[in-house]
Amino acid sequence: MTSREPLLSVEDLTLKVRVGGAEWAALEHLSFDVGYGEARGLVGESGSGKSLTLRAILGLLPPNAVITSGRMQFDGDEFDLARQGKQERRRLERLRGAGISMIFQEPSVALNPVIPVGEQIVDAVMRRDGMRRAAARDYAIHLMELVGIHDAEQKVDAYPFELSGGLKQRVMIAAAVAGKPKLILCDEPTTALDVTVQQQILSLFTHLRDELDAGLLYVTHDLAVVAQLCDSVTVLYSGNVMEGSTDLRAVFERPQHPYTEARLRSTPDIDRIGRRLYSIPGSAPSLADRPVGCPFAPRCEHRQDDCEITRVPDTSSIDGREVHCLHPVGSATGQIELAEEARGPSSRCFSAPTWW
Ligand code: ATP
Ligand code: MG
Repeated sequence: MTSREPLLSVEDLTLKVRVGGAEWAALEHLSFDVGYGEARGLVGESGSGKSLTLRAILGLLPPNAVITSGRMQFDGDEFDLARQGKQERRRLERLRGAGISMIFQEPSVALNPVIPVGEQIVDAVMRRDGMRRAAARDYAIHLMELVGIHDAEQKVDAYPFELSGGLKQRVMIAAAVAGKPKLILCDEPTTALDVTVQQQILSLFTHLRDELDAGLLYVTHDLAVVAQLCDSVTVLYSGNVMEGSTDLRAVFERPQHPYTEARLRSTPDIDRIGRRLYSIPGSAPSLADRPVGCPFAPRCEHRQDDCEITRVPDTSSIDGREVHCLHPVGSATGQIELAEEARGPSSRCFSAPTWW
């Protein structure tokens, strides 16, 4: 395969959940890539579909969820996510053991409380490499050191309850990288931690990325985390991609979707201390009352008559940036393609905060 192909491509993923005899679309026509060694942030507020997206990639969906369309390419292998017979499920299962690993928000979900933490890493190492137990234990200690556990020789025999939240999260990260995955899926792995530990874990991810050259798909509701850690971003709202780009800086400095712009305005920034923080009016629609057009339309300052009733086409805008909006920010004409003069910094819709 050529190096131009991404490590992971998800294309046209639509997922429905069955509730009380009815079916609701939780994800609609999602597409995004993660390159080798790339970190993509998948950002969206609560209920936007971030966890379901990760679960669809892993083939670990709740029993009442069904994928109605979606293709996935991972490291050269193709998967039809909507047609999961026994064989397809087994292929996805194999990926979970080897190429892809997942880090959850809450370490207690992933760690077995009655097995010493080192053992849990050793198991992952042995599954992957068929190493002998003694060598796997040494490797587990090495991994624990790699994730910043200083007294790894002692901690290797500790049970999860003996460790702080931050240390447990590090153990889970060590277990996740033990299988030398090509892709790591992270579901808000720092939300449950206090700010200092959160910062340490984010630095650890940056370090691991360089060390392992693994792709990272990092789910968060926090744009500041994306700015710190990621190369590219996909912004989700109510199960739909609003905006996506491999040029993270451009999205932060010149957002084109009104939702991205509103989220940036409502994110605290050190340069704007003392200024009142913008708050997006209203709340996200439930799966049952999402408009047929743009899901953000009812809350959007740039809304026009067609927004709630016209399905937004899968249109690419400036510099290959994906923007699902009929009237993008900065567009004087109200058309999807911006005029040439609107492409410079003058099209900024707010004073760009210092994310970098
Ligand atoms: P959070 O930030 O709160 O973790 P999220 O972006 O991860 O949110 P998801 O858990 O992916 O959101 O859920 C997306 C939507 O699908 C939500 O409206 C949620 O209520 C709904 N949903 C998720 N799982 C199910 C399920 N098994 N049955 C019915 N609805 C579900
Ligand atoms: Mg979630």
